[in-house]
Parts: sequence; C-alpha cells; structure tokens
Amino acid sequence: MKLVDRSAFDVARDVNARRLSAREVTDAALAQADAVDGQVGAYLRVEYDLARAAAARVDARIASGERLALAGVPLAVKDNMCVIGTRTTCASRILEHWTAPYTATAVQRMLDAGCIPIGKANLDEFAMGSSCENSALGVTRNPYDLSRVPGGSSGGSAAAVAAREAAIGMGSDTGGSIREPGAFCNLVGFKPTYGRVSRYGLIAFASSLDQIGPLTRTVRDAAMAYDVMSGHDPMDSTSLPRAVEPASRALPTDLRGLRVGIVREFDLQALAPAMRTIYERAYAELESLGAALVDVSLPTVDYGVATYYLIAPAECSANLARFDGVRYGLRVDAADVGTMYEQTRAQGFGPEVKRRVLIGTYALSSGYYDAYYVRAQKARTLAAKDFAVAFGACDIIASPATSCPPFTLGAKSDPYSMYLMDYYTIPMSLAGVPALSVPCGWVREAQADLPLGLQLAAPHFAEPLLLGAAHAYEQATGYSARVSPAAAGSATGIEEPA
Ligand code: GLN
Repeated sequence: MKLVDRSAFDVARDVNARRLSAREVTDAALAQADAVDGQVGAYLRVEYDLARAAAARVDARIASGERLALAGVPLAVKDNMCVIGTRTTCASRILEHWTAPYTATAVQRMLDAGCIPIGKANLDEFAMGSSCENSALGVTRNPYDLSRVPGGSSGGSAAAVAAREAAIGMGSDTGGSIREPGAFCNLVGFKPTYGRVSRYGLIAFASSLDQIGPLTRTVRDAAMAYDVMSGHDPMDSTSLPRAVEPASRALPTDLRGLRVGIVREFDLQALAPAMRTIYERAYAELESLGAALVDVSLPTVDYGVATYYLIAPAECSANLARFDGVRYGLRVDAADVGTMYEQTRAQGFGPEVKRRVLIGTYALSSGYYDAYYVRAQKARTLAAKDFAVAFGACDIIASPATSCPPFTLGAKSDPYSMYLMDYYTIPMSLAGVPALSVPCGWVREAQADLPLGLQLAAPHFAEPLLLGAAHAYEQATGYSARVSPAAAGSATGIEEPA
C-alpha cells in the first residue's frame, strides 16, 4: 500500500509509534498533489512551505515524547476557512488576494492535534452551489470520472481526499455541502449537530446553518476528526458549551437493537431504477446487520428546498454586505463612494452569489419580510418538529444522500435544477441535526461506475450513535474501499518504507 492510500488512523498510529515520520507522509502527499492535481484541480493552492514546517513541528513533538491524535495526517482545508498568513479566497474574485490574519478554531484544533495542512481546497464561490462549478478561481473534477463534477460546495476537499492528496478534508455544510460531495466522491461526509464545531474563522454564508465537518475515506477517520475539531469555543457564541462525547473510541460492528427510520415522503420510486435498486439494497443491508426498519414521516419535507432558498440567501445578503471594497479584499476605485461599492461588488462577485444577494435582500425588505422570510422561519420550525416526532419512533434515519449520481460538468445550467440537488440534505440542515453520507454502491452510466451515498441522520448530539451505525454499515459492505482512478493511475513512485 502506498503511503497516500493510508487512512488517517493508520498514519497517526505509525507516526506516534515512530515507524513513520510526518515528513515522509507530507512529502508523499505533496508528491501526489504534484502528480494528480493538474488533472483533478482539488487545490486552489498547495501550501508546500506551510506543510513542511508543520511536519517538522509534528516530528519534533513526537521526538519529545508527545502523542498526537492526528499525528502527521495530511489535511485539505476548504478555502473558506482562515489559516493565518495564507490566502483565503472563498473561490471568489472579491477575496482572491486576501490573506487571513488568524486561523479558524476548527482548523487550529486539527493542526494542534498533528495534522499537516497540504493546501487550500476549491469550493463553489462562498460555498454557494452543489458542483464546485461556481468557483471563480478554478475547475475541480471528480477523481472517479474526470468528466464529472466532484459535488459541492466542498468539492475541492472531497476531490483531494478521493485522489489521495489528503487523508482528511475539512468542509462546511449549510444545506448539504459536505454530504453531497462526500457521496459523489465515494467518501464519508459528516455534518455534525449545528453548534458542535466552532464557526470562528469560517467565512460566513448562512450563519444559522453553516457547520464545519470532515470528509474522509473511512468512518473511523471521520470520528477521529470530529473528536478533535468539535467542542465549545468562546469565540463563537453559537458554539455549544456542552461537553463532547468522543465518537471514535467504541465503534460497533452491528446494528442490533437499532431502529432505523425510513422516511415515507422520500419515495424511492421517484429515483431512476438503477439508483432505486441500490437504496433498496442499502436498507436491506441495514436490516441484515440487525437494525429494525420502521416507517417514519417528515410531513413538511417537500418544503425544505423552498424554505432553505429563502433563509440561506437572506443570511447571505447580510453576511456578504461586509465585502464593500473598504474592509476586505477587492476594491475597484471610482469617482464617488457609491460607485466604488457598486463596481467592487459588480466585479468581485460571480452570478450565483449576486443572485443570492438579490433574492435575500428582496426577502428581507419591508413589505416582503413577513411574506417570505418570516414564513420561511415558520416552515423551518415545522421541519425541526418533524424530526423531533420522527426520532420518537426511531434512533436514526436513513435515506439517499442525492437524487442522482455525479453529473457531467456543465450538465446543470439552470439554478433551479442545481438547488434541487439538496432535496435530501436540506431538511437535516434546517433542523440542525447531525447527518452523514456513507458510500453505498455504484451505478453504471456512460461506461463509468459512479458512486452513491447513503445518508444517515440522528438526533442532536447523537454523533457517537450516528458514526457507530455508519461504521457498522461500512465494515459490512466495503463500498468505500474502491480507489478512484485518478488516484490509482498516478505514479508518484513513493511507496511505503519497508
Ligand atoms: N447547495 C447548497 C447551496 O448552494 C448548499 C451549499 C452548502 O451547504 N454550503 O446553498
């Protein structure tokens, strides 16, 4: 097995045991990025100096007798998270040359635990999108089929992990942006409970929904990353003061006694036959592991997309008001200050971001506020109630993660069809409950095998239960083991030392 194929768990174990140095792991990850990223485009920037300096620090700490939870683990950081001294662009022209003056808490915790920041990963501009195609700064391709999208908005972090350019990707999920690229890149994509991971240093899109989480090749790695990055942060007033129950210690291998809710409204008949077969099999696999499948209802689930696409743009229009040419990033000079604002924002933001700012400003304007924003908030309350009722009858909920497999670049040209990509993931975001996507099989399309994800969701703070169920499923099925062609085809020549 090549060094870059190793899980975070394996890397950390061997670096701690001094069988491997962080330096060796880092060199292998950087060489892999050199070999494959020209094709994949996961990173906006590979941070060679930062990575090597971090590796040297980790090796010194290990040499002095410390043990680190994620010693030497190569990390891809979505480029909407601040890392001090590095450019942090949100894949937007408006921040293209902006350098972060501090490091996001969640990233800092990963670095303190021994992670090596390999690079800053591409995303849809300001995390708005489902394919990475809204990036103003680069194209990212799916390592399982280079003609297709990696998903979004955390598409760069997902592609980096699937192409073996990192073992853990940090993503942010507002309406599905970790889970959908996780599904599209055959990874575990995990969105914790809202407020469980600090948002300090995550450039805000929709603050009441944004949540940082990991993308990994195994559930165990996701649990290890979650244990490190989660927990209260006084710098984020929405981060929860409640203690974190570690998730990576006891991961079960069966589902005996677990009640798995199958959502009546998520009718598998609506899917293409090949996909339906995969999800029917996935539910049967859960059952054969000892779970009891129970019928549950989320009556307002069909309003999710409409609700989200009012609340998220409303919050985005307020959050993005700060990019005015004065305080951050791009400034387009003009004769008067009004024209300067106008020109800066006109040239700095891409079409999807502008669309959201316009929709959001409209929904918040007097006269429309009650009709749109307040109603959306009421619908959101109903969504949360739906989950509370459903979780009275089941322990976790299973569903498809997406309604289609990864699509070809350019295939979804109208915004509405892109918004519908979030149909299965948005309800959990509105309710703030933890949810993940775990690989569940392949569909064949146009001579390519395309990965699909099973979404599992749990009540607030039930991350250990959720990750445990996903682990049991993954261990029994093994769909995640298949290496992406982009990663396998690379010949970096760097093999594991004997
Ligand atoms: N695709 C959704 C959107 O465009 C979700 C994005 C996200 O979760 N950041 O808003």
